[in-house]
Amino acid sequence: MKEIRVSIGSLGVLGLRNIKLPAPPTTLYLMVGEKCMYNCAYCPQSRSSHGSTEYLSRVIWPKTEWSKLKEAVKNAPELVKRICFQVVNSPHFLEDTLFFIRDIKSVSALPISVSIRLSNINDVDALFSSGANRIGLALDVATEKTFAEYRGGNFSDTVNFILKAGKKHPRSITTHIIVGMGESDRELHDLMKLFFENTITVGLFAFTPIKGTRMENKKPPELKRYRRIQFMRYLFSVGKEFDVEFNGEGALSSVSGENIGEMLKNPYVFTTSGCPHCNRPYYNEEPMGPMFNYPFPPQNAERIINEFVQYVSNDRVVFKI
Ligand code: SF4
Repeated sequence: MKEIRVSIGSLGVLGLRNIKLPAPPTTLYLMVGEKCMYNCAYCPQSRSSHGSTEYLSRVIWPKTEWSKLKEAVKNAPELVKRICFQVVNSPHFLEDTLFFIRDIKSVSALPISVSIRLSNINDVDALFSSGANRIGLALDVATEKTFAEYRGGNFSDTVNFILKAGKKHPRSITTHIIVGMGESDRELHDLMKLFFENTITVGLFAFTPIKGTRMENKKPPELKRYRRIQFMRYLFSVGKEFDVEFNGEGALSSVSGENIGEMLKNPYVFTTSGCPHCNRPYYNEEPMGPMFNYPFPPQNAERIINEFVQYVSNDRVVFKI
């Protein structure tokens, strides 16, 4: 009997678990494999983590019979807008992922994302050929100096591989970046600019300490810092031209550009980012907050803006640092 781990919210939205969903996922999240061959310091699936393999980020993923899941997807095509396979690099991870993609495609026309760690472009091609519509190649850690320590491997090689995949499959690659891994705002700016200029979408995450991982005692980023990075990401994502200023420590102090104050008021600035319709409810936050990524546009954008913006004048937004 084939099984797959499914995020608890996804089981809820499909009616396979009777749970209250304060924010239903708009994408179905499925986990392929468990216990990774890599050793990322922040991940409960990493080789050295003592955390439960039921977890990815702060979400629980119960094992589910594949045929049952497939049937539920087939019978309820309107409940979600995308399927995302989150692949843990355990034995046979690629063959298993290819199988799951082809099999779900036989019953569903939903677009498919795959979040996976790869270094061979032929494997990226194989995933697209099997029916995936977007591939997520996570960078996670945004600086050369912390990459080797927290993620392992070579930073430049990883960035170049993501760019290569983006060149071969334009507008079809997503990357993930985690804020709060020892990087500066300036480094995040430069990296996001590079990715968006190469048609690669950036999904932002806030570092979340998970019990049993090497980074369990580190702190999440300050919310007001996360907000200014979120705003900058939003501006890149809509193709806005803007200027930035940083203080001596590389923290983003202001952003300027035509109509920038109006753009700040768009509640989508604060929502989860990445592939279309990916809202990842409570990946980074307790349901009671603080909310780093809102799964749906927040009603209270004005209050959120007041928390991290000092003032707006003459097309310039100055941040509280
Ligand atoms: S942005 Fe969302 S849908 Fe896309 S790969 Fe990442 S988790 Fe999956």
